[in-house]
Amino acid sequence: KPVIALVGRPNVGKSTLFNRLTKSRDAIVADFAGLTRDRHYGDGRLGSREFIVIDTGGFEPDSSTGIVREMAKQTRQAVAEADVVVFVTDVRLGLSAQDMEISRYLRQANKRVLLVVNKAEGMQESPLLAEFHELGLGEPMPVSAAHGQGIRSLVEAALDMVSEPEPEAGDEEAATQDRPVRLAVAGRPNVGKSTLINAWLGEERLIAFDMPGTTRDAIKVPLERDGQRFELIDTAGLRRKGKVFEAIEKFSVVKTLQAIADANVVVLMVDATQGVSEQDAHIAGYVLDSGRAVVVAINKWDAIDGYQRELLERSIETRLAFLRFAPVVHISALRRQGLGPLWKAIGDAYRSSVCKMPTPVLTRLVHEAAAHQAPKRAGLSRPKMRYAHQGGMNPPIIVIHGNALDGVSDAYRRFLEGRFREHFKLVGTPLRIEFKTSH
Ligand code: GDP
Repeated sequence: KPVIALVGRPNVGKSTLFNRLTKSRDAIVADFAGLTRDRHYGDGRLGSREFIVIDTGGFEPDSSTGIVREMAKQTRQAVAEADVVVFVTDVRLGLSAQDMEISRYLRQANKRVLLVVNKAEGMQESPLLAEFHELGLGEPMPVSAAHGQGIRSLVEAALDMVSEPEPEAGDEEAATQDRPVRLAVAGRPNVGKSTLINAWLGEERLIAFDMPGTTRDAIKVPLERDGQRFELIDTAGLRRKGKVFEAIEKFSVVKTLQAIADANVVVLMVDATQGVSEQDAHIAGYVLDSGRAVVVAINKWDAIDGYQRELLERSIETRLAFLRFAPVVHISALRRQGLGPLWKAIGDAYRSSVCKMPTPVLTRLVHEAAAHQAPKRAGLSRPKMRYAHQGGMNPPIIVIHGNALDGVSDAYRRFLEGRFREHFKLVGTPLRIEFKTSH
């Protein structure tokens, strides 16, 4: 997925733009208890083209102190990770010395830059836009983040600046037998990702593979287990050193997001000695949004006592409530304990995520569910579920067709979800239910 970073001085409307670019995606995935979104990274989509958006704090390149300096540092990292930088300026404030400064920095950084002028509602051809040519970044593109004008053109222009995206992960084709299961181990630094990967490689015969040519390419380690082929996607910034892997790069949210998007199954690793942190919850939120199958691995289980274990269980229940469908496995990567159950959970989650659900079975299930408890909605007409079919895999999507289904409650959706899950024995995968109403 291409990465788009929003850069500009404070108050030009970057976060409003960020919300515009990522909203369509968030709207599909409801908010759940315990899920606090990281407002700096988000997924966007235009038709079938997906991208990652990074919002940055206000950028003041020559600031040398405190919080402003920290923001500048984060902005530099975002620029380094981006495929395209969207440089946001403000037509009402006009061109400033700071904009010139930022533009100089971006040219130096040698990135593809798309210059946009925000707050330009109704200004296709305004003389006010002309002065932004001075930045030397080409034709300024007028947009209005607040009013949603020019957003589509902005995304199209940004995506056209990067090469065509790779074929989508998680599609039907990924489910075919001859492709390895793509597995990502996600978690913040020091949870034990490389220890786990080394433990796996120590158990298994390490199959020879090529190291990637550039640092941008993720390492993919082939692995076989019980006759099933896996491909391990690196999230830890791993480098091979002799026979073992060690993490040498800094933790990168973008790398983690890319790996999650590429994966079929994500092992979300939590450090038992640290509990579930805000950062863990954010990573868990990305996993939820991705729709990938997920197993929660609580690592360093060896290092905590009974009382701490109890506390931890409770913090998982509250802080990761939105991943309740995911199995939780306790492991010690260091002592190689719990690895058997972890593999089993990964296998179950993968099989669930690519489960085939025949139309006659789904249709029977919705009829049975309706007989047990009919759907209700506010308003006059009574909802009726006629038939259902499978609309996708990894995550499985069930599309229910019928009449007046647009206002069916979340509670009823959960009721249906429970019945589908039980019938198909789904574990470790989210399940999406869509209603299609024909009036
Ligand atoms: P990464 O940054 O997620 O790849 O984390 P590492 O694999 O480098 O591990 C970070 C630290 O945690 C190292 O000192 C490991 O030895 C330690 N560690 C990893 N797994 C375990 C475990 O299961 N139990 C204990 N007690 N320590 C562990």
